[in-house]
Parts: sequence; structure tokens; C-alpha cells
Amino acid sequence: MVASSVLGFPRIGANREVKKAVEAYWAGKISVDDLTKAAADVKKTSWTSIKERGVDFVPSGDFSLYDHVLDHSAAFNVVPKRYVGQGLAPIDIYFAMGRGRQADKVDVPASEMKKWFDSNYHFVVPEVSEETEFKLNFNKAVEEFKEAKAAGVTTRPVVLGPVSFLVLSKASKEAPAGFQPISLLPKLLPVYKTLLTDLKAAGAEWVQIDEPILVLDTASALEKQYTTAYEALSPIAPKIMLTTYFSRLDSNVSFVAKLPVAGLHIDLDRAPGQLDEVLAAVKPTSIVLSLGVVSGRNIWKADFAAAIKLGQKAIDSLGADRVIIATSSSLLHTPVTLASEKKLTAEQKDWFSFALEKAAEVATIAAALSGSQDAAVTAALEANKVSIAKRREFESTSDDTVRKRVAAITPDQLERKSPFAVRKEIQAKHLNLPKFPTTTIGSFPQTKEIRQARAKLGKGEITTEEYDDFIKKEIETVVRFQEKIGLDLLVHGEPERNDMVQYFGEQLNGFVFTQNAWVQSYGSRYVRPPIIVSDVSRPGPMTVRWSSYAQSVTEKPMKGMLTGPVTILNWSFPRADVSRELQSKQLALALRDEVIDLEKAGISAIQVDEPAIREGLPLRRSDWDAYLKWAVDSFKLSTAGVTDQLQTHSHFCYSDFDDIFPSIQRLDADVISIEASKADMKLLNTFKQYGYSNQIGPGVYDIHSPRVPGEQEIKDRLASMLAILPDSLLFVNPDCGLKTRGWKETEASLVNLVAAAQWARQTY
Ligand code: GLN
Ligand code: ZN
Repeated sequence: MVASSVLGFPRIGANREVKKAVEAYWAGKISVDDLTKAAADVKKTSWTSIKERGVDFVPSGDFSLYDHVLDHSAAFNVVPKRYVGQGLAPIDIYFAMGRGRQADKVDVPASEMKKWFDSNYHFVVPEVSEETEFKLNFNKAVEEFKEAKAAGVTTRPVVLGPVSFLVLSKASKEAPAGFQPISLLPKLLPVYKTLLTDLKAAGAEWVQIDEPILVLDTASALEKQYTTAYEALSPIAPKIMLTTYFSRLDSNVSFVAKLPVAGLHIDLDRAPGQLDEVLAAVKPTSIVLSLGVVSGRNIWKADFAAAIKLGQKAIDSLGADRVIIATSSSLLHTPVTLASEKKLTAEQKDWFSFALEKAAEVATIAAALSGSQDAAVTAALEANKVSIAKRREFESTSDDTVRKRVAAITPDQLERKSPFAVRKEIQAKHLNLPKFPTTTIGSFPQTKEIRQARAKLGKGEITTEEYDDFIKKEIETVVRFQEKIGLDLLVHGEPERNDMVQYFGEQLNGFVFTQNAWVQSYGSRYVRPPIIVSDVSRPGPMTVRWSSYAQSVTEKPMKGMLTGPVTILNWSFPRADVSRELQSKQLALALRDEVIDLEKAGISAIQVDEPAIREGLPLRRSDWDAYLKWAVDSFKLSTAGVTDQLQTHSHFCYSDFDDIFPSIQRLDADVISIEASKADMKLLNTFKQYGYSNQIGPGVYDIHSPRVPGEQEIKDRLASMLAILPDSLLFVNPDCGLKTRGWKETEASLVNLVAAAQWARQTY
């Protein structure tokens, strides 16, 4: 018999119950008990509904109120000193680590967040040093295993593996230079031993141990650590399903197949090519192979025939009892259920599968491979064949105008007319900005009133005219506010945008939208990625009207605001039938037209945000060049169609790009703003080392937390930046958009920012 498995599930709940409860708890509106209850209900529903779909291995322990890596840190006592001894309850320490805390005399910033591999999910980075005293504060794996059992579901608990946990950690401030978190493995293993011993005692037959680090190039140097860890753990643990995802094992398979584990999971959605090599490596062992054939990263219905073919190949080599059909990764990156979508057409609905539907898919594929004659299985196979055929037919249609335009792109379309040094002079005259110009990243607080107005428009309770008037007033308020506090390069505040990707998708051809398809980005922040289903083009201007309105109410220069092609692509669910490169270039052409239209309308600075350019980077280095070529070309294509006097900006929400620096340079944006508030000054040294000569706005404070940075704190930050960067290059700005913030902290923070910039003008 071929078994089926799901590696992890969305945490939000079909009706966003968890998000709402977490936010209500933060607001002091509900108690810890209420929060626990809301979470328990959602977990129970997930477990039972996955089981009802016929899945053999149902995950538990993957649920989280904020982030699963943070859960491990809290459980292992990896809690930085700054959060301890402040009189906070454990749950509040946990949330303080995730999002910072500023209340009742407690003032601590959030821990650093990083992207989870190549996804748009962010994890809270654990901080460790030789002083870290690992101990098991609580055993979430056991607790949730029991909780599921009580709900009638025997699960396969999910635990993040010790090697991945440490490799994802960073050295804390106290650690000596050169300290490597992985050196703590011998100290951490006893805690895992306790965790897994208890799990076995609680009756778990299997445990899923995630070691996603194994798909990275760096894992090849970790053979010794992996061997040590799994030799220590497997004798005392339940049967270990060693789980990898998002890319391929490549040469690491040679040592992975020798580890004393009972099972190995590989991602055949992202890396179908690895099957042969992995089969050859595990064949002589007794390892059960779990095949990730149903995508945990996309929303397209699985092609059963193709999955069955892969499954059969594995069965022919290993026998049915050694094969499991699984989702490629956790379904965390997909929405809960298609059943919540009321507005998709029947044709569209037939193309997609969300998490619950995917659970049914793995069960059906496994049943088919087990030779099931069950009528329901036969019917599901037949229905899938029909759906896939219909989708292929739809995919064969194309927009020839766009296809031809992409084919005709020439190298000169990617370059500005003059080099940066020339442009800089022209722009200085045109924009007339002071030294250390202050600006923001685009959005201002998306208040309840703004969201309500949008909802009312959606329901037809107000007219488009009334809505437009409302937006105009919001823009004017934001403009007046910026004038009042003395910002130099203004923005319109983006009140008209529901989301930086959705807003553009809605105005482009080729996209489909959902009502309820929320996917976690970080903490309680969820996004609703649009779906690209066909060729993309721009029927007309998208932002010109609002940007020119904003410019019309002020003498100060207004910065136009667009989301870049690579980010729109990465934060959408892409098509699976054509390359990402083609989709990105189609988006770039649409944005190029928009940029040109904005300049014609009198806008003199335009920011094209590309926060996702790094996230889209393939996990294996050998795939980088090809990606970076088309990604950077796409950005350049969208921004290079303007005159020298237009100042282009770009924004990235992260700062580790030491390793892709030449590509950042090749973007040739006049100004780039980056996150530098949490990531020390390492990055600025990289700019210096490469002799980066365009302008830079390293974020001077962290907007991901409600905490207000003091004026002195910002001055100190500017001073340390100016110790590295030439003063002619520096812009002063927060590290990201302000849409998730309230007005109170926004005003206080920006006033301090402007004061710090004024101080810098006098001091440097
Ligand atoms: N302009 C966008 C904003 O300010 C950028 C957001 C982002 O980089 N994530 O909201
Ligand atoms: Zn950002």
C-alpha cells in the first residue's frame, strides 16, 4: 500500500480565526485562554478535515501563533536576555520576540526576521551564543500530538531539525567574532533527545523532522553534523521522516542516504529531476521515500497522471510499502480551501487546488497507486483528466501582441540615456533636495477608515465618486502631514491600494483574484496573492491619476510609487505552463509604459519596489546567474524608458545581498532604500567595498514593530552609517512602508527622523 501525507497546514483558519484572535489578544481584548481556545478550534478542524480526506500522515506541531521557528526558540530557551526579567508572561515574551513591545515601561525591539528560504514567509531568527542555556521549556510536539489524539486524529508530529535550527540561527551580540551557531550542536542535541523521547513515550510512531538546509549548497559541509545528530537521535526517537523541500538534494544525497533514518522526503514539484538519483541512493537501504508531488507552493490542481508516473517509478524500484505520496512542502504557503471562493467562475475554480483540496489529491494519488478500485477514486481520476485537459486548452491561447513585444526587446531598452554621474547632476538641479534628503518608502497607515471605505465601495454602499473623493482627502492629509513635519521628497501614501501587488494585478490583464485565499507573510500578517493565468498586459494607466493629484496639491517633489515586475511575479501565484522569465518581462513592459506615463504627467521621482528580487533567487547557486539575468533585466526594462532628469528609486525590504551585489549595482537605480535598521552595518561595508556610487537610503528605523525610535537613536545610526558611506550618497528614510503602523507611532517616529536628518546637515 502506498501511503499519503501532508507536511504542514495553513494556521490562519478558514475564516481567519487565528489572525483575528492573535490581534485581539495584542489589543488586550481577549485573554490568553480565549486565544488558546481559538487556536485549538482551528487546529482541531485542520486535523479532522485532513484526515477526512483520506490522508494517512496528518501533521501536528506545525501550528503556530506567530512563527514555527520562534516556537522552537521559545521551547529551547533560546530567548535573548533583553526579553527576560521584565515581568512579562511567557506568551508576552514570545510575542515580544516576534514583534517587539513598547508598553508599561517595557521597551524592547523585535528580533530580526528573515525570509524562509525562497518564500514570502518570514521567520524570527534565533539568536545564540556559547552562553545560551538550551533546555526544554515546553514540549509543543507532545502537547499537540496529544491534543490531536484527543480530537480523534493520530498525527505525525513535525519538528524543525537541530542542524537546520542552528544554521538558521545567528550569533547573538555577546558572541565572539567568528562564532558559528552550528558549533552548539552537542549542547542542543540533549534537548532534542528529551523532546523525541517524550514524543515516543506519548505514542507517536513517526516524527517528521524538517531539515530544509539539506537542499542548500552549504549542506555539503555539514555531513559530520548531520551524521552526529541523527546517530544520536534515531535510537531514541519515533521513526524519523527526514524532510527536505524547496529544492534538490544534489550531491548531499550521498550522505543523506546513509543517515540512520526511517524515511526521506524529497520535493518533486520544485526538483522532479532528482528522483532517479535519490532512488538509486536509497534503494540499497530500508529508507521509505516520500515523494512531494503535490505542490505546497502553488495553487494549480495537480496533474494526477504525471504524479502517478513518478510514483510508479518509485514503486518499481522500492516496492509500494516504501513509497509515500505527499505534498512537496508544508501547505503553509497555500490558502486553506477553494470552498471559500464564491466569485471565481466555474472554469477558474476547476483549475485550482488549495490546501484542503491538495490533501484530497495526495490521498487520491496514493490510492490510485495502491491499485484502488474504489468508485470515488476512479471518478476523481477521471475528473482530474478532464480538468487538466481543459486547462491545457486554455493555456494554449496567447496574447500575440505581448508575446511579440517581449521577443523584440533590445539591449538599449534596458539602459538609461546617461551614466549615473551625469544623471545625478541633472536630478539635483531638477529636484533641488537638501543634503541627506528625507523620504518614506511609500505607504502611510492604512487606517480603519480607509479599509472601511474600500469595503463600502466593494459592497456598493458608496459610489466610485464618493470613494475617489475620500482617497483624495486622504492623499491631501498625508501630503500636508509630510509638509508639516518637514519631509523633503513626498509620497502620496498609497491609500487607494489594498495591497502592493493585488492593486496592480487588478488593473492588468492576465490575473485572477480570490476573496479569501490568505497566505501568511509574518506573524499575523497575511497576503492574498493574485493568480497569473494568462499573458499580462496593461490596458491603461494605473497610478498616474493619484500621483498627479498628489503632486498638484504641493510644491514639494512627489515620488511616484510602483511595484516592480519581479515582485509582482514572486508575490503572485505564477503560471506553471510558461517560464517565470516570460511572465516577468510581460510585467516589465506594462510597468515601463506606466513609468513613462508618470513622467509625462509631471512626476520627477519614481520608486519601483523590488522587495522580492532576492526571495526569488534559486536556492542552488548554480541556478543564480540565469535568474539574476532576467530579473535585473526586467527591472531595467521597466525603469529605463525615462529622461535623465527623472530620479528612479527602488526599495528592498532586506539587506543580505552581499552575495548578489553586482546585480544590485546593475539595476542602476538612482536611489535604493534598504533595510538596515536591524542588520547592523555589515551591508554598508559591502557597498563601500564594491565602490557603489549611486545613492542609498539605509532604513534608519524598523517599521515592523510599533516601537518609536528615539531621536538620539536615529542620530547614532546616521553617525555609524556616515562613518562608512560618503555623505553625498545618503538618503534618510524608514526601512519599509508604514501601512501596518498606526498614526501615533508614525508621527512620533518621523518627527524624530526629520530632527536627526537636520542634525546631520549641521554636523557633517
Ligand atoms: N511602497 C511600498 C510601501 O510602502 C513598499 C512595501 C514593501 O516594500 N514591502 O508599502
Ligand atoms: Zn519594504
